[in-house]
Amino acid sequence: PPRMSFSPSNDPHGLLARVFGFSQFRPGQEAIVSAVLAGRDVLAIMPTGAGKSLCYQLPALMRPGVTLVVSPLIALMRDQVAQLQALGLNAGTLNSATPVAEARRLIAALEEDAPLLLYIAPERLARSDTLGLLERARVVALVIDEAHCVSQWGHDFRPEYLVLGEVRHALGGVQTLAFTATADAATRADIQARLFPETPEIFIGGFDRPNLHLAMTPKGNTRKRILEFIRGHQGENGILYCATRAATETWAEILTDAGHRALPYHAGLEPAVRAANQDAFVAEDGLVMAATVAFGMGIDKPDVRFVCHADLPRSIEAYYQEIGRAGRDGLPADTLTFYGLDDILLHRRRIEESQASDDQKRVETQRLNALLALCEAPRCRRQSLLAYFGEEAAPCGNCDLCRDGVETRDGTIEAQKLMSAMLRTGQRFATEHLINILTGTATDNVLNYGHDRLPTFGVGRDQTRGVWRALVRQLYAAGLITQDLTAHGAWRMTARGNAVLRGGERFMVRADVMKAAASRDPKGK
Ligand code: ADP
Ligand code: ZN
Repeated sequence: PPRMSFSPSNDPHGLLARVFGFSQFRPGQEAIVSAVLAGRDVLAIMPTGAGKSLCYQLPALMRPGVTLVVSPLIALMRDQVAQLQALGLNAGTLNSATPVAEARRLIAALEEDAPLLLYIAPERLARSDTLGLLERARVVALVIDEAHCVSQWGHDFRPEYLVLGEVRHALGGVQTLAFTATADAATRADIQARLFPETPEIFIGGFDRPNLHLAMTPKGNTRKRILEFIRGHQGENGILYCATRAATETWAEILTDAGHRALPYHAGLEPAVRAANQDAFVAEDGLVMAATVAFGMGIDKPDVRFVCHADLPRSIEAYYQEIGRAGRDGLPADTLTFYGLDDILLHRRRIEESQASDDQKRVETQRLNALLALCEAPRCRRQSLLAYFGEEAAPCGNCDLCRDGVETRDGTIEAQKLMSAMLRTGQRFATEHLINILTGTATDNVLNYGHDRLPTFGVGRDQTRGVWRALVRQLYAAGLITQDLTAHGAWRMTARGNAVLRGGERFMVRADVMKAAASRDPKGK
């Protein structure tokens, strides 16, 4: 049969308006579209709802041939295809549930040159008959949606995704575009290693939620302060996240007694009760949900005005997801997170007692420490949060640390001691080994590496291990050092860290945090 003729459009703005009905690109979209059209491999990290799909759908329309889209869930694929078809685009999905007639239509469409967006399950894609078909078609790009599924460090590892590196190879090293909302450094490095033989162009963006006021505070008088916070938001929609199921029920009662409309939510409630409480939250105004982390997925209530954490979440990712449920309408929203030593110990114990591998436990522990560093951040909290995601930002003026300030003191000398130990050991070691060097602790490892002969050996004897750990977190939150999560947590210096080490810049630590660390574990321990 004659091939259908197709004349590609070279006007992304025109297509954006004409096909998708959007007047302008969202932040980041245009740069990604340009990189895609330039034929680059792309790894894009943007939060949920930022508009990742458009970044590959639009270029797909501009180039003849098939754009393969790998996605983990059949339901997701079906939704996307229905939306694209409603826009008048040629799209389809091949998975275990695809009717035979539809599969035939798509196989025939592969012979055409017109743009086709083909959503496909990874296991289907890896089948030799599928690859045979695709070898004869013109495949312009392999898109991997929810790319964190390829990583065992991710929260949603799917072994089926592991074949994608080979699929890429089988398709002649086709242009590959990976998208994920997971910005965690360990997961990101893993995605890169598994999907891209060479470094792709990496885009990170859109994580800032400027309308959210950020605040974190040590526990103490917690119950009274939570009540005060919620009273300050009387009549508004909010979520109070608690660490345990029992706590959600207790808090729902406390809040009800205090005259608020409040309900509990956790996975252990009767399904009917759980559903009714969730429906009430969606339908009503002025309801506070006292909930475990089980609450929130798939709930899109735009006018949630506050999120309070009665207990510390388990990672920055979890924290970000949970506070992100406030202020979806773009109007100001308030967040407040309480943290305490009990939270840290509880999370550490959960990690220790889990069935995970040692490597996984190590990564989980580092994630928890990253969150702790955010709690104790010596500079703008939003800056510290965005730095974790790889985004740079100016001080926000809308977080507790910007608004209220925080007592700091000069910590340059301590920072220099720590970073010089890092530098002299090739930036290949994690926290505890560095602290062994500083405190002059001659462990087997220290002796084996000859680190007891370093000039920095023992220069930090005057401080406790706890103080040094706190300092590491301070340096991390301030962006002076970064952790290489795949290399056993080795710390590396950033350009700013280097400036402090060389004496060009001073480094201020939080006085309260350092004082608390010093009083927690006595000298010499
Ligand atoms: P993600 O995959 O990043 O979670 P989606 O691709 O599903 O996000 O997009 C989220 C929503 O934003 C969708 O409803 C989409 O139609 C909309 N959207 C995407 N790009 C734009 C744009 N440039 N202007 C307006 N809306 C957009
Ligand atoms: Zn700030």
